[in-house]
Amino acid sequence: MSYVKGLKCRECHRLYPTEAVYVCEFCFGSLEVDYDYDKIKSVLSRRKIEEGPKSIWRYRELLPIDGRPTVGFHAGFTPLFRADNLARELGHSELYVKDDSVCHPTLSFKDRVVAVALTKAKELGFKTVACASTGNLAGSVSAQAAWAGLNRFIFIPADLEHGKVVGSLTYAPNLVAVEGNYDEVNRLCAEIAARYRWAFVNINIRPYYAEGSKTYGFEVAEQLGWRTPRHLVVPVASGSLLVKIWKAFNEFKKLGLIDSVDSKIHAAQAEGCSPVVAALREKSEIIKPVKPKTIAKSLAIGNPADGIYACDAVKESGGSGGAVTDAEIVEGIKLLARTEGIFTETAGGVTVAVTKKLIEKGVIPKNESCVICITGNGLKTQEAVSDHIGKPYKIKPTLESFETSLRNESTIKEEVWQSR
Ligand SMILES: *Cc1c(COP(=O)(O)O)cnc(C)c1O
Ligand SMILES: [Zn+2]
Repeated sequence: MSYVKGLKCRECHRLYPTEAVYVCEFCFGSLEVDYDYDKIKSVLSRRKIEEGPKSIWRYRELLPIDGRPTVGFHAGFTPLFRADNLARELGHSELYVKDDSVCHPTLSFKDRVVAVALTKAKELGFKTVACASTGNLAGSVSAQAAWAGLNRFIFIPADLEHGKVVGSLTYAPNLVAVEGNYDEVNRLCAEIAARYRWAFVNINIRPYYAEGSKTYGFEVAEQLGWRTPRHLVVPVASGSLLVKIWKAFNEFKKLGLIDSVDSKIHAAQAEGCSPVVAALREKSEIIKPVKPKTIAKSLAIGNPADGIYACDAVKESGGSGGAVTDAEIVEGIKLLARTEGIFTETAGGVTVAVTKKLIEKGVIPKNESCVICITGNGLKTQEAVSDHIGKPYKIKPTLESFETSLRNESTIKEEVWQSR
């Protein structure tokens, strides 16, 4: 059962069949999935969703596949929780964390988009899948395509973090490290996609892939009790996640699943790669490409494919943008770990640090609900923090060594030294 009408050009609105195409032949606009919302409305309800699987596939009617899902049965449906410790530290009263650092199977929100992309790639008859990745996509395509029995080619910038290389290579893909930055990797992949019959999840089947990001937004609304937060802080690389969260909220409203969308979407980037935030600041209608230089490699896209649409979504929502330095990113990672017990990667550090800034500036008022989007896991980007978290106490295996080494540590509370 399909609820998809076809693909539609975002610019000139020309219609295309549901094939592996992604740009309009007439105006070079990007293509987007077009749904039959009347048909969806006649079958979808809160109750139907609540009774569905505990994965992204509970929203299957709003995803661009024709048959049954075949990949990613456990992707998504990650925790959303109230972050009161962090809120207290930031002087706020209603903060939430949506935590995709524990998304199945590869610990980032990319597991959502890949589950949709690979299901679609199989429907379209592809035997080989591929991607251009800033890190997390590499791991997710490698893992989920391994499970699905597809041939897989993964293209990454050669200077990627060790944890992300290992986190891809272990699944035995064809991993290609390109001597260049992500934008150069992406350009190369577009050429390869034009030559071989491969499904590049984020290039020629991008219209389907990108729809998977809506599930992050659907879950936020459902888990908050069928409402959207007043504020949402979203990390931005290509801009797709932000655009699709906004779309998700508005689809829920269109279908009567929530009453209203009264949410401001805030874009979070690293100062070393902030083309979208810069365009918002300068009130510019174009995105000026930049050469990325930041530890937040998962967000290091200097020429973001959906940058302009991300700007539009932020403006339409009444939101804003914020950029932070590498030092602030490290502090953001440590702050979330210390207060909420969550170890996020550099992208999460960006989101936390930008949230802190926007609260301090009063852009996010202290009494208005706010969801912080955590999208990846810190174990993959250990080099970002390893020099900033101190060292273990080193002792001999004796009680005496333990006490002489630790009793005088001023950072340890006196109460721990009570004898039994
Ligand atoms: C890819 C990625 C993003 C941003 O995704 P876009 O949709 O390209 O903006 C955010 N966080 C993490 C951890 C990512 O891997
Ligand atoms: Zn067009």
